[in-house]
Amino acid sequence: MTIVATPEVVRNKRPYGSVLETIGWTPLIRLSRVVRGCRTPVYGKADFFNPGGSVKDRIGLPIIEAAERSGALKPGGTIVEGTSGNTGVALAIAAVMRGYRCVFTMPDKMSQEKVRLLKAFGAEVIITPTAVPPDHPDSYVMMAKRIAEATPNAILANQFYNQANPDAHYATTGPELWEQTDGRITHFVAAAGTGGTITGVARYLKERNPDVKIIAGDPQGSILAELFRRRNSGGDAGEKPVGTPYKVEGIGQDKLPGTLDLSLVDEFHTVSDRDSFAMARRLTREEGLFVGGSSGLITHVALRLARQLDDPRACVVTFLCDTGERYLSKLYNDEWMRENQLLEPDRATLGHLLAQ
Ligand code: PMP
Repeated sequence: MTIVATPEVVRNKRPYGSVLETIGWTPLIRLSRVVRGCRTPVYGKADFFNPGGSVKDRIGLPIIEAAERSGALKPGGTIVEGTSGNTGVALAIAAVMRGYRCVFTMPDKMSQEKVRLLKAFGAEVIITPTAVPPDHPDSYVMMAKRIAEATPNAILANQFYNQANPDAHYATTGPELWEQTDGRITHFVAAAGTGGTITGVARYLKERNPDVKIIAGDPQGSILAELFRRRNSGGDAGEKPVGTPYKVEGIGQDKLPGTLDLSLVDEFHTVSDRDSFAMARRLTREEGLFVGGSSGLITHVALRLARQLDDPRACVVTFLCDTGERYLSKLYNDEWMRENQLLEPDRATLGHLLAQ
């Protein structure tokens, strides 16, 4: 099945009033090389096309506007958030245009590129330790809370509990996917950081067609897949699951965010760093889609699903969350990959050597 974009979806025909108007309506792109030999069509929703380079651009302005409407944020105010980077960029872009100051806290496992990026927009960045429990006073979430409380005329963007987050995806990402596939989407694959994307999209798509399946990917080390499994096996019996460190950024959690509605998810699959990074690198080298590790993780799940279905009438959509530029010193750096025992043998070189 080939989906043809309708003429009204042609972008950029007129000038935009500001960069904020360019957020959303990201392209849906058919994958061809990485799905070779499989009859199921797989499309990638290319949210790295957003001006800040990620899916999170969709929630920056809605969060700020909700705080303005409630009276919590007044002119000249400060926006505080604990962010792995992409939400920071999204809030920073919107804050620049609305005249707010930004202060972000960020765990120290995040790439230097992300820290520099936030500073480029004029934000203040405070680095916190990664290896502390989520309720520890030094965790990036708790630190952000304390700063917001101690700063006059400041709000905590609170992406993990703020319903403006999933609502933004219900209002934009969901309808875009429905329109771009002419209502033929059968499987949506995503991963949860806050869960805003998967929750908002699932809510919209299931309203349009309750048969659409929502499939989640989770990094090995995150506890979300385990929480999902326990929820579906009828109870929270046993000890609270404990997360372990992993390298994929922006997704997975060590506690359940308020913005993730597990009841909308049909399946949860755990994926290793190695498989996630290998797929991100393949998307770049084989499809020309330069994306980060979370997109690799999601696409790994989507391709496995597509092969199992092997159905030309199905329509699988994977989510391409952010740009690979944010990871040049990590998953796109062979030395870093080797140091972390994550490098797959280079297919082209291997094939060449074996042929000799
Ligand atoms: N991928 C990356 C790289 C991200 O930064 C995020 C957001 N933390 C996500 C995926 C997941 O998005 P959401 O918060 O909507 O679940």
